[in-house]
Amino acid sequence: MSSTLDFEIVPATNPRTDDERAALMADPGFGRIFTDHMVTIKYADGKGWYDAQLQPYGPISLDPATSALHYGQEIFEGLKVYRHPDGELGLFRPEENARRFNRSAARLAMPQLPEELFLESIKVLVEHDQKWVPSAPETSLYLRPFMFSTDPYLGVRPALEYLYVLIASPVGAYFPRGVQPVSVWLSTDYTRAAPGGTGEAKCAGNYAASLVAQAQAAAQGCDQVVWLDAIEHKYIEEMGGMNLYFILDGTTLVTPELNGSLLPGVTRDSILQLAGELGLNTEVRRISTDEWRETAANGRMSEAFACGTAAVITPVGTVKGTDGEFQVADGGPGEVTMKLRGALLDLQHGRTEDTHGWITRL
Ligand code: PMP
Repeated sequence: MSSTLDFEIVPATNPRTDDERAALMADPGFGRIFTDHMVTIKYADGKGWYDAQLQPYGPISLDPATSALHYGQEIFEGLKVYRHPDGELGLFRPEENARRFNRSAARLAMPQLPEELFLESIKVLVEHDQKWVPSAPETSLYLRPFMFSTDPYLGVRPALEYLYVLIASPVGAYFPRGVQPVSVWLSTDYTRAAPGGTGEAKCAGNYAASLVAQAQAAAQGCDQVVWLDAIEHKYIEEMGGMNLYFILDGTTLVTPELNGSLLPGVTRDSILQLAGELGLNTEVRRISTDEWRETAANGRMSEAFACGTAAVITPVGTVKGTDGEFQVADGGPGEVTMKLRGALLDLQHGRTEDTHGWITRL
C-alpha cells in the first residue's frame, strides 16, 4: 500500500478575515472554534485509502444508516501545534499519536492509516490554516484526527468503508481556572474499562460511557472523576481524560502501570522520561485508593497531578469518595508538579533544546 497520497486542494472561498479570526482567537476557550479547512480521506475495503482532500471546514452529509451512528466504530486522537518563539510551528511527538491511532483502529476492527499519511494530513491542514496557530502563552492549535465507519448498513460487522477527517481548533487553557488544583471523585458506581475491553483505545464509546460518572462527580462538588479498576474498585487507573501521577517523599513519581484498561498517554510517557533527567525516581506500578489516603494522611504523598495533551499538567488537591474526603498536602500546586509542568511546556513550545527528538517542525 502506498503510504502517502496526493491531496486535492479545495480552498475555502469565504475564509474568515484577519479581523474575524483575531476576534475569535482573543478568547478561544477549548474546542469551540474551528479553522477554515479540514482534511478528509476515504477508505474502501480492497481499494485502500483514496480521495485525500483539503476542503473548506463544514458539515458532512451522512446516510441515516451510517454504521458508526449505530455501532460506534469511531476512533480519534488529540495533539497540538505550538508556535515557537522564532515564529515557526512545531508538533510534539506526533508519531506517537499516529501509532496510538492505529492501535485504536486495530482494537475496533478498523483499517490501519499509514503513519506518513497521518502526518501528511497534518502538514497539509496546518500549511493552509497556519494563521490559526495562536502565540499567547499556553495557547496552541489543537488537532483532532478521527476516523469512522461509513457503510450504510445495519448488520453488525466491521464496516467496509471509512472516512478519516482532520479538524483543528485554536485553544487556550483547558481548565479556565488555570493551574488551580482540581478536586476529584473516586468513582465506585461506574467503571471506565475492564480487562479485555477497550480502555486503551481512544474510541468514542469510552467517552460516552464516562459522562454519567463525570456528572456524578460534579454532583458531589468535584471537578473530575477518577476511575478505579473494574474488578476490585481498589486500584487507581486514570482521571477523566488524563493520566495520574503521585509524588512520594518529594522525590518519587508513581504512576499506574499500563494494564490494558487505561489510555497510554503521550504526556504520561514524556513525563516518565523527563523525571529521570530532573533527578526524580519513577515507579510504574499499581497504586490503591488506600495507599493514596494513607500516604496523604501521613504526609508521604507530597503532591498528585493529572497529565494529558489538553490540560498538560494539572495538580490534584482534594479527593472525595464514598468513604469521605482528604487532601493531598496543603491542596495547592506543588513544587515538583510545577517544575515538571514548566519543563514539559518549555519543550512543547520550543523554548528549550529538543534533546529527545520529540519536535517535528512544520
Ligand atoms: N486518558 C484518557 C482517557 C485520555 O482521553 C487522554 C487524552 N488523550 C489521556 C489519558 C492523556 O493522553 P495524552 O497525554 O496522549 O493526551
